[in-house]
Amino acid sequence: MHPNHPKTWSFRKQLHAIILIALLSIMGCGIFGIWRLQQFIFSQITMQQSSQTLQQNLQTNFEKTRLIGEIHTQLRLYLQSGSTDNLNLVHKYAEDLHHKLSTTEQKTLGLFLEMLNTLEIQMKSLDQNTKKIFKTEKTLINTTGQLLNISSQEGKAIWSLVGGTSQRHHQLYATSLVTNQIDALIHIQQDAAEIFATLDSKLTSLGQTLNSDQRAFIEKLKTTNYELNDTVQTITAIRITNLETQHKIEQFLEILNSEITQNSLDKNTESFTLMATSLQLARTNLLFMSASLVGSAFMFVLIAFFLNQRMIKPLVGFVELLRRMTKLLAGLRGQQVAEDDNLLQLSEMANSRQDELGEAALAVQMLITRLRELSLFRQTIEADESTKDIYTRLAQIFEHKLGLERFIIWEQPDERATVMPAVYCNPPELTEELPEFAIAEHCRAKRTGLMITTLETPFICKQYPFADTMDHICIPMLVSGHVIGVVQFLFALDLPEKVQHIKNMAVEEARGYIAEAVPILQAKHFAKRLEDMATKDPLTGLYNRRYLDSMIEQFVEGAIRRKSKIGVLMCDIDHFKRVNDLFGHDTGDFVLVQLAQMILSCIRKADLVIRYGGEEFLILLPDCGESCAATMAERIRSLVETRKIQTPSRTLQQTISIGVAEFSHSSTKKIWEIIKLADIALYQAKSNGRNQILICQGDTAQQETENIP
Ligand code: GH3
Ligand code: MG
Ligand code: MG
Repeated sequence: MHPNHPKTWSFRKQLHAIILIALLSIMGCGIFGIWRLQQFIFSQITMQQSSQTLQQNLQTNFEKTRLIGEIHTQLRLYLQSGSTDNLNLVHKYAEDLHHKLSTTEQKTLGLFLEMLNTLEIQMKSLDQNTKKIFKTEKTLINTTGQLLNISSQEGKAIWSLVGGTSQRHHQLYATSLVTNQIDALIHIQQDAAEIFATLDSKLTSLGQTLNSDQRAFIEKLKTTNYELNDTVQTITAIRITNLETQHKIEQFLEILNSEITQNSLDKNTESFTLMATSLQLARTNLLFMSASLVGSAFMFVLIAFFLNQRMIKPLVGFVELLRRMTKLLAGLRGQQVAEDDNLLQLSEMANSRQDELGEAALAVQMLITRLRELSLFRQTIEADESTKDIYTRLAQIFEHKLGLERFIIWEQPDERATVMPAVYCNPPELTEELPEFAIAEHCRAKRTGLMITTLETPFICKQYPFADTMDHICIPMLVSGHVIGVVQFLFALDLPEKVQHIKNMAVEEARGYIAEAVPILQAKHFAKRLEDMATKDPLTGLYNRRYLDSMIEQFVEGAIRRKSKIGVLMCDIDHFKRVNDLFGHDTGDFVLVQLAQMILSCIRKADLVIRYGGEEFLILLPDCGESCAATMAERIRSLVETRKIQTPSRTLQQTISIGVAEFSHSSTKKIWEIIKLADIALYQAKSNGRNQILICQGDTAQQETENIP
């Protein structure tokens, strides 16, 4: 197909490749997208889980913080009031808290609870000692009251001291409970100690002035005072320890709080980190998913573009071209088709593409070119005058265009005819060796309407005369079921296979031209037959009077132009009526045909014979004067006289009489007048005894023509 281009991928292969690439790329993008979607969903789930964990963390943390707050509050209340209700609540909250804590936090809570127990013990001890103080104080006050009876002055001083001591003790008690400031506690305790020392020295000095009973009383007071002092000191000591314990408890609570906060923070941070990572992962996956989507879309667009450029567009263009070509072909018969854009486009497509589309374009281009050539050929032969011109043109194409040097064209246009003569031979010398298809049905191609060739079946045709030297392919010229002739191509025997193949292709192409020519040949044959029917006598095949009327003017003008003469013979068969009467009309017809043939055999090609009447013939002899005409007339007469006519039943002999006249370009008489003169001469010949010629005499003619209407 494309001799200059190495063949590339076929249209189908290209299509398959595009579809495969499209499937693979879309599948690739799809799998990648699905994988990334899965990752995205996983990260979403992780994020959701992290968010739930975070929420739980926050809630737990809030609960823990709340419980610690409650513990703190209840602890403060307990420290202020010493109420076991508050302490119980502290324990309850601590227990609640215990369930929510981690192991390390639980340890800290354990330490806190241990310290709480210590505190509880201390608080109990503190309470007991306080009660003891109040009891001792009461004893002291009561005892001091008795002292007032002994010495009102001394008693008052001591009473005020005891009152001061009592006041300090209350202060101490209050301070020990309310304030956690050890300095203040120690300060009050020092005040109490001072009062104690003052009371003690007072009691000592009082004791020196009193009697032994009174001294014993004072001693009792002193002992009570000592007891009180001891208890105060004990209480202070406990209180200090207690404060330390409180401090420690606070510390444990703080540690627990900070641990909880820290743990919660850690957990939150962990959840946050997980969430952030998941978010990042989700974002990345989303990005990849979008990328795969965009990739798919891009691939789709790319493939669609490629498909459009490489397949659809050329295909649509090709179909459009074919459509236009079909239109063009439809109108081809009526117009001369010039090189146009459509053919150029086809040619470009055929050159640029090496796939089936290119092949198809080339095939269509070749087809169009061939159809154009055939159409041109048809248009040309339509304008040809005769079948002979058409055969000559066909022969030129066979020889010069298709390289078929040897061929014979046989013709049998008339179905009734039995002979099929060769009307064209190439080379002309072949004519000498031709068989005579006197009986057309002897030709196998004519008889069967099929292509007959020795290339397929040797010795297929018995009539073929060159079997020893040449092969043949006979192509019948078939139209409407009738074979109007046969084209016979001849080839030297044993041609190389390649050469024979080329010849066969040429014959194949020749068949196209033959097929184009056949209907036109047929039309020309018909036209000729119609013309003949209108202008010829069907019995003798001679021209009739209608033909004479139509051509006589032209005939005469030619003679005038050439400044020549026309010989005019009017012939009539003698006693023809008798033939009819004696042997019947069929014999009469037969005799008429034979006489017509005899006349034709005597005259030249340029001469014209017309069946003028029933058994009368007019003969016009161009460029033939009077003497020439007389000679011709005599030749006819003598031939008829001597020639025996063999009818199927008998042998006959006839005579003919002929009147001769002459038309001259210089003559003043019209041709019809001359014909009339010849007729008069004939009449005279009859009168003179028949079987003779009579040349028209000017005077007589003159005399007789006066009667012509
Ligand atoms: P003559 O020598 O005087 O010409 O005698 P003739 O018998 O030929 O003359 P006539 O004109 O009386 O007769 C002509 C005859 O030719 C009459 C007709 O029957 C016959 N004829 C004319 N045309 C045809 C034809 O087409 N076929 C046949 N069979 N006979 C024809
Ligand atoms: Mg007659
Ligand atoms: Mg006659």
